[in-house]
Amino acid sequence: MSELKLCQGPSCHQHQTKDRLKGPKDNKTYQTRRRSNLHYGEFCDNRCYNDWFSRYGTQAVNHFGRLTEPKHLTEENAWQKTYDWNSNDDTVYISRNGITKEERPLTREQYRDTNYTLNER
Ligand SMILES: [Zn+2]
Repeated sequence: MSELKLCQGPSCHQHQTKDRLKGPKDNKTYQTRRRSNLHYGEFCDNRCYNDWFSRYGTQAVNHFGRLTEPKHLTEENAWQKTYDWNSNDDTVYISRNGITKEERPLTREQYRDTNYTLNER
């Protein structure tokens, strides 16, 4: 059901493992892996992730914005998602402020939504 995606590691085909050797019997070649589940949505394994970052990491940081001065943890950006169990053994999702120690309830959907945060950006 889920579609196979190509690993984006620039050297994936050069890592000579048995599972990468594909093609007709007399014409097998080492090929980029295809997977339905990829690390970070893009890579077949950590080696390919590291290959990509070694080659493109600096370009990517420059493209998306290099940090030029330190950021500071403040009440406005100290919210972290966490979870705990209540007395009925149900999972309870919360946002906890690392400075004020205030806790606010989260739904499971908010906990899982990587874009949802109480932090000011
Ligand atoms: Zn790969």
